[in-house]
Formats: sequence, structure tokens, C-alpha cells
Amino acid sequence: MSGLVAEQAAFLIDVSRLIQFATAEGWVVTGGELWRSPEQQEIYFKTGRSKTMNSNHLRRCAIDLNFFWNGKLVWDKELIRTVGEYWESLSPKNRWGGNFKGFVDVPHFERVIDS
Ligand SMILES: [Zn+2]
Repeated sequence: MSGLVAEQAAFLIDVSRLIQFATAEGWVVTGGELWRSPEQQEIYFKTGRSKTMNSNHLRRCAIDLNFFWNGKLVWDKELIRTVGEYWESLSPKNRWGGNFKGFVDVPHFERVIDS
């Protein structure tokens, strides 16, 4: 369990760096989901909003962020790419949902851990 706490803490430090980076790039960033209950995950899975029942949100190692530009919420993967690439540069364990194959999840940033 202490291993998981260390991963969760390292993840959150990287999240703080990501927010600082994106803000310096001119984005306004607001927070979405971080921890997700198994019950909520099951709802997302059944409704197609998530493709897994093994989400890193269940381990507090994923966060969804909202990116605003000129007051508008942006979902465009290419516009957010520099932020996603920065995220993946912080740790070899970091994955950006904008780079997922098939099910692209632009607002999603996660740390992949051995479980
Ligand atoms: Zn997510």
C-alpha cells in the first residue's frame, strides 16, 4: 500500500507541474475527476463513457482536466498536444489520453503503475 501512496503522490506532483506548464502556455485549467468510485466506473463502463473497469481513476492515479482558451472549453487533441507531450515527458509512467489508440480521451492524464 505504501508503494501505491508513493505513486499517488508522485502523480499529483506531476499534475501540479502540468497545470503550471499549461497556465504558462496561456490555458485556463480547471479540475475534473480524479478519484472515481467503483460504482461510478461501472456506470461509465455500461454507458460507453469508459472502456475499462480497470481505470487508473480507481487508484487516484488519473485526472481529467478542462482546458479553456478565450473562455471556450477546448477538446481538440492537436491544440492540447503540447500539454500532453509535456505530461509524458515528466515520467516514463505518464500517459496522455490524447495518445490512446482507438478511444481517444483528450482531457485524461494518468500514471501507469504495476498493480
Ligand atoms: Zn479520465
